[in-house]
Amino acid sequence: MQRLAMSWRRQGISIGFVPTMGYLHEGHLNLMRRARRVVGEDGIVIVSIYVNPTQFSPSEDFSSYPRDPKRDLRLCGEEGVDVVFTPEDRHIYFRDTAAAYSTYVVEESLSGVMEGESRPTHFRGVTTIVAKLFNLVLPTHAVFGEKDFQQAAVIKRMVRDLHFPVKIVTAPTSRESDGLAISSRNKYLNQEQRADAVVLWRCIETARKLVRDNSSGIEAGRLRDGLMRIFSDYASARPDYIEFFDEALLTPVSRVRKGHRMALAVYVGETRLIDNARL
Ligand code: AMP
Repeated sequence: MQRLAMSWRRQGISIGFVPTMGYLHEGHLNLMRRARRVVGEDGIVIVSIYVNPTQFSPSEDFSSYPRDPKRDLRLCGEEGVDVVFTPEDRHIYFRDTAAAYSTYVVEESLSGVMEGESRPTHFRGVTTIVAKLFNLVLPTHAVFGEKDFQQAAVIKRMVRDLHFPVKIVTAPTSRESDGLAISSRNKYLNQEQRADAVVLWRCIETARKLVRDNSSGIEAGRLRDGLMRIFSDYASARPDYIEFFDEALLTPVSRVRKGHRMALAVYVGETRLIDNARL
């Protein structure tokens, strides 16, 4: 992969990169279209499919994470993707060698809150794999979804701090018609849980309306308490966190106003779903 990418870069060809964990859906396809628009018809679009073990904790769904490589390849073909990079664990973490893997990239400011608090080793896994993939794919541009807003912020910080010569592009969240953010993990939901999963979008819409109707803002604790009450209508759903923060620094705000961002994580049955939106 690296040798190929180097030869393209030597010829001055732009490389647009979309890292994914596969089980591709409309959200991923939209990132691929964005990558194509960014690099143009003369550029190369590369999609990686790799379920990265280091971003899952031992209690999480690494081994059950949905996989469908044949369908993924077909979808990439239909989108005009030039290369699908599908490395294996032994190539990435040298698991077939005697010496254990021992080098990680850690972002220390934006990674501690929200997803980082609920999943303490998650972002270390993400920054490490993305740095490694950048070194293999040598992209000029890489596209990330706003669905994982904190992840995109952490990656942007890593790219700045470590001087990666990559431009990070973000694309809006693709949603189902009832507002549920599309996710590979939605596959885990049974019928009742799928219906209850709309609670994330209902919280976002409710917060938006309240914030827009109150020009002086709303105290964060009060807004959170109000949203928590929505959960009584959704038996299989249980909130993990609901946070309101400043978009640039991810620092929590005490008074929530229009333009602030909200993020939430919710267990629906055993499945943990996340979403976020600007209010
Ligand atoms: P994943 O395969 O879930 O690791 O996601 C790979 C990339 O797709 C990440 O940049 C995600 O933010 C992005 N992504 C996942 N779901 C969506 C969605 N519903 N809308 C937009 N981007 C998404």
